Amino acid sequence: MRGLKSCAGCGRPSEVLLRGLCPECFDKRHGVVEGLPRELAVDVCTSCGRIRVGHRWLYYRTPEEGVGLILSSIAYKPVHPVEQVVLEGWSLETSLDWRTRVRLRLKASHQGLAFNVSRSIVLRLNPSTCPLCIVKRSGEYDTLVQVRGAAAEDTVERVLNTLDPKEAPVDVIPVRGGVDVYFHHRGAAARFVSRLGSIARVKVSRIVYEHVGTSSMGKRRSRKTIVVRLEGASQRGER
Ligand SMILES: [Zn+2]
Ligand SMILES: [Zn+2]
Repeated sequence: MRGLKSCAGCGRPSEVLLRGLCPECFDKRHGVVEGLPRELAVDVCTSCGRIRVGHRWLYYRTPEEGVGLILSSIAYKPVHPVEQVVLEGWSLETSLDWRTRVRLRLKASHQGLAFNVSRSIVLRLNPSTCPLCIVKRSGEYDTLVQVRGAAAEDTVERVLNTLDPKEAPVDVIPVRGGVDVYFHHRGAAARFVSRLGSIARVKVSRIVYEHVGTSSMGKRRSRKTIVVRLEGASQRGER
């Protein structure tokens, strides 16, 4: 066993010393995690119920799952010389509501030794409308690509990562058996489908046009739905 040194702050012996301080004193003076807000506003779509986590709008089955999604999306940045901070667990300090206080249990590490710190954060729900509900309501989306088959979610994610942000879909929604990808413009949808075909074997199984009224220019407007089946990985491999 190695001898314990004493903390320069409180004098107590401590196995972990950060700039001469025990984790508790270091946390009091410098903080262990950087830039963690006291309050976090979370956009929630009042129409479909999804919450915005980073740039994505996600469904959740229970409010607790929603809280978990939000908390695990936060970047827990360690304060030097702390090397890593990860979320180990959390508990509600107030009941789930528009403002909910949550206690975070964080595990920090320094030179192979771990210690815990805790933080409290308020999650404030901010009523909003997600992009999909906006376009659905206004009838402005143009093409829906329904990707179906095994590994649809992963394959779509890989394709989206290679797309020009200008070509990004309005929304991507996991559904039973695959993913629904909504596009504003037909051209972007076509490029998405062809990109999909370059990394996976795909079969376009159905194209449906649906008339959705008349545009302000007096033209008949239609909406297109393309069903794409994934039939395993491409023999050509990744590009
Ligand atoms: Zn101390
Ligand atoms: Zn919505």
